[in-house]
Amino acid sequence: MRKHRHGHGHGHEHGHEHGHGRGHGLRPHSHEAADKVDSALEASAQGMRALWISLAGLGATTVLQAAVVALTGSVALLGDTLHNAADALTAVPLGIAFLLGRRPPTRRYTYGYGRAEDLAGVVIVLAIAASCVIAGYAAIDRLAHPQPVDHLPAVAGAALVGFLGNEIVARYRIRVGRRIGSAALVADGLHARTDGFASLAVLLGAGGIALGAPWADPVVGLLITVAISFVLWQTAREVWRRLMDAVDPDLVDRAEAALAATPGVLAVGDVRLRWIGHNLRAECDVVVDAASTVVRAHKVAVDAEHSLLHALPRLSGAVVHPDPEPGPGEDHHAALAGHR
Ligand SMILES: [Zn+2]
Ligand SMILES: [Zn+2]
Ligand SMILES: [Zn+2]
Ligand SMILES: [Zn+2]
Repeated sequence: MRKHRHGHGHGHEHGHEHGHGRGHGLRPHSHEAADKVDSALEASAQGMRALWISLAGLGATTVLQAAVVALTGSVALLGDTLHNAADALTAVPLGIAFLLGRRPPTRRYTYGYGRAEDLAGVVIVLAIAASCVIAGYAAIDRLAHPQPVDHLPAVAGAALVGFLGNEIVARYRIRVGRRIGSAALVADGLHARTDGFASLAVLLGAGGIALGAPWADPVVGLLITVAISFVLWQTAREVWRRLMDAVDPDLVDRAEAALAATPGVLAVGDVRLRWIGHNLRAECDVVVDAASTVVRAHKVAVDAEHSLLHALPRLSGAVVHPDPEPGPGEDHHAALAGHR
């Protein structure tokens, strides 16, 4: 059997003046998808840099806060520190996953290494869960066994450092995220901004102690534990969806509309989409004229894939299966009937 590889080259090899080599009209059209691939490459470099700079910023904040926790024994500050530590550490598995994801596919990993990002997501969820349990345990233990908090001004100072560190990282992520069009980075930025307010809550706890309410510290610790558990829930849901191959249903609508609008497509059958890292893959069935030649039916399939690539900017490739329109009582998949 001769090996055949499809060389449609969508999204990887054609440039602005792209010609698919077949039937793409007379004048070269500026290929939006190709522009997006270029900017995505550039964006991933900028995104990586944003990731490491955020790690450095949050890491420095965390180390400073941890020193003050050791000095003062504030459980509210402990919770805030654990939260910031978990957030800072999220950059490490993600960075490793980005590096792994660039590897080309092999005979064993035929889809490449993009889904290392999902594994990184699992590690992140475990880290957040651990920080949630430790912060909650410390706060409850402190409520049961009250202890004085020393060096209140240091606690207040560390709370302000936590607020400023998070706010600076938040502004940076939101700015870079908007520039490179990364919704994830903008979301990370908004997350850091909320965390800044959690740090300010530590200040309230310190104020409470100063006013003669020592329980204010563990109560704020509990509130921060609740905040961490919300982050845990959202992150776990996102990772679960990725592991289950879930996509935004809006993407499916867009894919179906693009297929239906392709000349030669008479109807649209099953459409399946999944993420591999930060790229989408698609498997779709379309119905074509039963009297088409193989060449004609193939061209419809290629055009359909082309429409998909324009409709879904993150799509890296699609398998489009052309089905001949069935006549009365005809089943072109009869051979498969016993397997479905
Ligand atoms: Zn082909
Ligand atoms: Zn094109
Ligand atoms: Zn956080
Ligand atoms: Zn078929």
